[in-house]
Amino acid sequence: MQKALFPILQKLATSCYTSLVHDSLVKEVHSRQLIEEKIAFQAQHDGLTGLFNRQHINHLLSNAIDDAHRNKKIGTIIFLDLYRFKPINDAMGHTVGDKILLTLANRLHSLTSEHIDVGRFGGDEFIIIIKNLNHNYQDDIKDIITQINQLLVIPFVIDANSYKFSCSIGYALFPLQSSTVNNLIKFADIAMYEAKRAKSKQGKQYQKTMSEKIKRRLAYVDDMKQGLENGDFKLYYQAQYNHYGDIIGAEALLRWQHPVHGMESPSVYIPIAEESDLILAIGQWVLEQACRDIKKLERLPLPQTFKKIAINVSAKQLIQHDFQDKIMRAIKLNDIPAERLALELTENLLVENIEDSIKLIAELKANSIDCSIDDVGTGYSSLTYLKRITASLLKIDRSFVANIEQSSASAANASMIISLGKTLKMDILAEGVETVAELNCLKDLGCYQYQGYYFSKPLPFDKFVQLFN
Ligand code: C2E
Ligand code: CA
Ligand code: CA
Repeated sequence: MQKALFPILQKLATSCYTSLVHDSLVKEVHSRQLIEEKIAFQAQHDGLTGLFNRQHINHLLSNAIDDAHRNKKIGTIIFLDLYRFKPINDAMGHTVGDKILLTLANRLHSLTSEHIDVGRFGGDEFIIIIKNLNHNYQDDIKDIITQINQLLVIPFVIDANSYKFSCSIGYALFPLQSSTVNNLIKFADIAMYEAKRAKSKQGKQYQKTMSEKIKRRLAYVDDMKQGLENGDFKLYYQAQYNHYGDIIGAEALLRWQHPVHGMESPSVYIPIAEESDLILAIGQWVLEQACRDIKKLERLPLPQTFKKIAINVSAKQLIQHDFQDKIMRAIKLNDIPAERLALELTENLLVENIEDSIKLIAELKANSIDCSIDDVGTGYSSLTYLKRITASLLKIDRSFVANIEQSSASAANASMIISLGKTLKMDILAEGVETVAELNCLKDLGCYQYQGYYFSKPLPFDKFVQLFN
């Protein structure tokens, strides 16, 4: 019995053993496969969103270009950038930012098809490759752009907060506009940048002139840099008055003598400087120069009514982590009373950085530096946020002041801003007052502080101080 049983048991044990070995082998092969698949997936996909990553997009684009040549088809690469993502990411934190990007990625992924690949290029930039387009490619591209915009219409609800976004879209065609991966990505990026500047929702196709424009802009930025080094920038001062005709303050306005174009308007070069970090150097120079000029004013017998010099501040300056330190340092260095300096922040700049702005303005106020809200009425003024900002002055935009006595719409707007200021206990100043009729109308509406050509044009410092004589 025992003898007979043994071989059976032996066989059973061997078979169990082989099956165990086989099982673990299968498992090992399987898990190695899984690991390899995981590594392959990670090599091609973006860690946060799971979309194709930049390297793989390059690879797919390269294949798509070859296919387009071979099949005599047209393709396009779309570059997409979320508008106003950065301020929200900065204000709400990266966890919220990541969730926004993930939500967008999931929505964009729904566009994927046999002919469409979607990837993340980095940050809030996404890429869509469309292959196999025919002669009516412009319509097909427009369709996709419409679909993208529709995907963005739905608000992004993150942790019970709702965010709304739009995006800037640029695209370049292959092989029509280029057959190299690098050029196509560069072209689509340039076109996206143009769409952003033009605030276009339809998207822009790359044009050669765009590159030339960018080259001209870069040269212009170089000119500005040179101008700053050469001391070609000057601060002019435009006096502000009360309804008794006393000077109450002044706004510092930047002037630049361009070597070729002559006197350039800040409305031209400030937006260009704002696109590069040069605005930081320019803004710092304005701050320091204004403080030096305030120091000179302090030595004069100033009228009691004269309170402050206001400087204009750009968004990039405001979001610098050490912005307040820079201001306090300039004040200290020139040994001037902090009360003499004020900052003008535009309404749109505030709304786009709302939480940081509220905090900053409160801290500046605690240090005796007042802030004004500039260009009120041109942006998204709303009581909800204005209530939370401890600004001291609302400046009625020039566009509502021009011919106000003839325009009931302008008068209604100005009147709304005046009552808003009164509710919030802020002073109100009208800018761009050019005629006595405008002045009288503003007075009737209850605005008692003014700035404009009717009183004085912006003047170089030496001429400005003569106003005190
Ligand atoms: P803003 O801050 O709204 O400045 C008021 C603009 O209105 C100035 O134009 C001023 O010269 C002009 N202005 C004043 N009174 C009148 C008037 O009665 N009629 C008319 N038609 N215009 C009047 P400006 O100096 O050309 O400045 C344009 C913009 O450039 C400013 O608008 C401001 O946004 C920006 N800017 C000027 N200086 C600086 C600066 O130092 N830093 C920054 N970031 N921006 C600046
Ligand atoms: Ca201003
Ligand atoms: Ca203004």
